[in-house]
Amino acid sequence: MGVDMKIVLLGAPGAGKGTYAQYFRDKYCIPHISTGDIFRAEIAANTELGRKIKTYVEQGLLVPDDIVIEVVKKRLQQPDTVNGFILDGYPRTLVQAKALDEITSIDAAVHLVVSEEVAVRRLSGRMVCPVCGRVYNIYYEPKPRVDEQCDYDGAKLVRRKDDEPEVVRQRYRVFYQTFNPVIEYYRNTRRLIEVNADKSIREVVPILEKILIENKILNLKPCREVVLN
Ligand SMILES: [Zn+2]
Repeated sequence: MGVDMKIVLLGAPGAGKGTYAQYFRDKYCIPHISTGDIFRAEIAANTELGRKIKTYVEQGLLVPDDIVIEVVKKRLQQPDTVNGFILDGYPRTLVQAKALDEITSIDAAVHLVVSEEVAVRRLSGRMVCPVCGRVYNIYYEPKPRVDEQCDYDGAKLVRRKDDEPEVVRQRYRVFYQTFNPVIEYYRNTRRLIEVNADKSIREVVPILEKILIENKILNLKPCREVVLN
């Protein structure tokens, strides 16, 4: 185990994966690599790869393993990964997980365990202003001052279709159907770290950092102070 941190981040919708990834990225100056972001950028730039990816995405199909593996392999060769990285959205199949072990040595897979009830509450509470785009949460901060109204322009807040309770439940179940073999793969290779992400990120982060340090996965010095709110 070197002085770098190479981790895979796993979590159902509502686990707060993006916020955790951002925290580690900012505090330890390692890149947050999201295959979803790479795909969107390639599609937007209309590259050959982007056009290929687009044909799958438009049909609602998953991008095939060989393409995803190639994308990740290329990304992990970039110099900004020298101190490690946080991989998000990959691997999503057993084939991808095994291929990743050929490409590099993953120190751990961190599974942010969120219950279905908490995931539904977090995501279905999210309301967006159709006028200015501000995002609120009716259960958590930032709450709108007046029920379902934008603080700035008074517009009636709306819920994204993806955040409707029934849709969140479906997304949650699809996540576990998809990712269970990957989670088991890391469990069986003794690299799985599970934390209870039902609690707030401010409570969970110190627990997670302690586990990572104790297991000699995290030995980077912080490059800046990050305050969680
Ligand atoms: Zn507004």
